[in-house]
Amino acid sequence: MAGTGLFTEILDGEAYKYYSDGEWKKSSSGKLVPIINPTTRKVHYKVQACTQEEVNKVMESAKTAQKSWAKTPLWKRAELLHKAASILKEQKAPIAECLVKEIAKPAKDAVTEVVRSGDLISYTAEEGVRILGEGKFLLSDSFPGNERTKYCLTSKIPLGVVLAIPPFNYPVNLAVSKIGPALIAGNSLVLKPPTQGAVSALHMVHCFHLAGFPKGLISCVTGKGSEIGDFLTMHPGVNCISFTGGDTGIAISKKAGMIPLQMELGGKDACIVLEDADLDLVAANIIKGGFSYSGQRCTAVKVVLVMESVADALVEKVKAKVAKLTVGPPEENCDITPVVSESSANYIEGLVMDAMKKEATFCQEYKREGNLIWPLLLDNVRPDMRIAWEEPFGPVLPVIRITTVEEGIHHCNASNFGLQGCVFTKDINKAMLISDAMETGTVQINSAPARGPDHFPFQGIKDSGIGSQGITNSINMMTKIKTTVINLPTPSYTMG
Ligand code: NAP
Repeated sequence: MAGTGLFTEILDGEAYKYYSDGEWKKSSSGKLVPIINPTTRKVHYKVQACTQEEVNKVMESAKTAQKSWAKTPLWKRAELLHKAASILKEQKAPIAECLVKEIAKPAKDAVTEVVRSGDLISYTAEEGVRILGEGKFLLSDSFPGNERTKYCLTSKIPLGVVLAIPPFNYPVNLAVSKIGPALIAGNSLVLKPPTQGAVSALHMVHCFHLAGFPKGLISCVTGKGSEIGDFLTMHPGVNCISFTGGDTGIAISKKAGMIPLQMELGGKDACIVLEDADLDLVAANIIKGGFSYSGQRCTAVKVVLVMESVADALVEKVKAKVAKLTVGPPEENCDITPVVSESSANYIEGLVMDAMKKEATFCQEYKREGNLIWPLLLDNVRPDMRIAWEEPFGPVLPVIRITTVEEGIHHCNASNFGLQGCVFTKDINKAMLISDAMETGTVQINSAPARGPDHFPFQGIKDSGIGSQGITNSINMMTKIKTTVINLPTPSYTMG
């Protein structure tokens, strides 16, 4: 159970502590931040509201710890990461329980998130050993005018202190996707978890503590992003920010100093369906892509652009599948569970009401109880409706009927977002042309958008982000290149 057994020391009475300098602590602010269970809409957990002084202390320890961590052999860093991964996987039950209570993630998916996170850490350790163990060797005589008098050796070195800020929807997985690469590359890491998801993240951090990482190397400060966010992201001790979330990331990019940024932000992933598509496959992917975790995924299918000639048939198939989705509490593993907060539910309702006023076709009756919104397919959506462009982050999916493929590509590219997209057709040549024309970081052919497997490159363009994630890219992003040049007094050529 959460906060018991191995996790007793992270809890103080009714509130979870924050993690600094290798210890679990109460904040001197004396203030607690409540975490509301989306299902009951009652306070379920409380975490510390950390102060600016506490953030300063964490940054100081992170800086000191990083200096000796960078001198720790790569294989030893990898060994500790493997240890943390196995503890995390062993502790999947209490951590999954937190995910169910804090973010209403269906119980089975919550366990999957923790196990996937353990696998991600292990893969990161292995990949780090491979790619950080290699450098480059350059010879000067390949550049015009030079003799072979200079040998250039390059290697990858850490950046220093990495600040990681994940979103609520994968508070464990999207935290370890930043922590693993940062640590294997020799950085220290400060985590600011999302408030909804903070207790799951604190349990995850305790697994790193139990694995025996040096004190100060990893810390976790809690508090509302709106209160401590700016202080953290503009802190002079931070050498890199890896952020996943919504528009907040755009504001952070403008405020952060001259440091590397990795931003994974929102999306409005389009699903383009051609006349020759396998409509059963499309319908199954629309259900999985649009309604898994109640649509609260960055890579959820967020607009279907279907050729008019097959639109009736597709909508019927999707409607039949929507009718089979179970709706209810996450503890019962329902397909559709309450969305994360009341304000999120109100926002989704605003999009639905706008579509109703503008006469979209409602394939189901709109129904909401508290934060629980029943799955809804909106047909005949037009570009003048908000739902055609905005990210509901809920179980509501618009269908726009198109008469040409170009119309679909145009709609996709007119969006401010450019995370992923997908195209369904049996014609691989057409699929490739459409993929090339879509201005998104990734295009999936004949499958719904997805972030995983976690070692694939993952990136958004336009307002969807800066840089690329995926294990290898994140490790590289959290390093810089160092070169040493050996200058010879006379040219020297190897003769064979
Ligand atoms: P969010 O509101 O942007 O919050 C993300 C994180 O930022 C949270 O930890 C939040 O903390 C923190 N934060 C808030 N204000 C801050 C500030 N001023 N400075 C620094 N940090 C601050 O996003 P969300 O609602 O958690 O997640 C949903 C969004 O994430 C969607 O737009 C979704 O598409 C996107 N997302 C993108 C990806 C991707 O990889 N592209 C993956 C998943 C989700 P608090 O919780 O304390 O406010």
